[in-house]
Amino acid sequence: MTRPTKSHGRLSIRAASEPRELIEERPPLRDAWTARVITLFPNAFPGVLGLSLTGKALDEGLWRLEPVDLRPFGEGRHRNVDDTPAGGGPGMVLRPDVMAAALAQAAEGTPPDRSEWPVIYLSPRGTPFTQATAQRLSRTRGVTLICGRFEGLDQRVIDHVGIEEVSLGDFVLTGGEIAAQALIDATVRLIPRVLGNQASTEAESFSDGLLEHPQYTRPATWAGHDIPEVLLSGHHGEIARWRRDRAERLTKERRPDLWRAYCAAHGRDPDEDQEL
Ligand code: SAH
Repeated sequence: MTRPTKSHGRLSIRAASEPRELIEERPPLRDAWTARVITLFPNAFPGVLGLSLTGKALDEGLWRLEPVDLRPFGEGRHRNVDDTPAGGGPGMVLRPDVMAAALAQAAEGTPPDRSEWPVIYLSPRGTPFTQATAQRLSRTRGVTLICGRFEGLDQRVIDHVGIEEVSLGDFVLTGGEIAAQALIDATVRLIPRVLGNQASTEAESFSDGLLEHPQYTRPATWAGHDIPEVLLSGHHGEIARWRRDRAERLTKERRPDLWRAYCAAHGRDPDEDQEL
């Protein structure tokens, strides 16, 4: 098996952990949640994940990012990773043997139990990614993500290796890298201490099955529009009631699917009138 000679990103998957921990200013925590990302474009990482709160947490070792370059696993002098689709048609398909070799390396040192370390192929045919997926992934030890390109990945490696398929939504991207970054972002921000203010993940959209209430900040009057008076009243009980009411109304108007699920979970009639 050809082993890759280089790895991009902040942490190399092949670097020995001991010397690195000695020389790094802030060593990664031993059990930090880790995303291994198999991609033809390792320098797309960390991308936006390197900015702001996720970037700071990455620097602090609260989570780890290990891109695995697919190219060195390719065949022949040109390191080919793809070939034409069996049965004909446009485009190219990623070869199963090449991906399996990359997966074997990415599996080094990871638990074999898929619930502890899921292996996920980002794919428009996958199970839709939701906040619940992010919550589940944030409780694992890490994930291996496969970023597809071209027409996607040979089906046999998906079946043989036991790969979960996850979709970002009903649209087609050019490659899995943006989808992987979105999945990682949504997951990493649920890891304790990544967001400065942990309480903020508890109140936000989806965490209780509702869309979030509208937000306002200064100035108190802008372009002739005032901030709703109750928010300036200082009555925490009334503010909480107002926010919940707005969250419910918004969800009912915009996302009848979420609203029905919420009502079922709370023993409520989805068609009830709920005026302030
Ligand atoms: N021919 C495929 C699309 C390939 S798009 C099909 O019709 O299903 C190329 C790659 O982009 C995919 O292999 C996948 O990794 C990524 N991708 C595209 N859309 C995506 C989505 N909605 N969610 C997650 N990954 C996606």
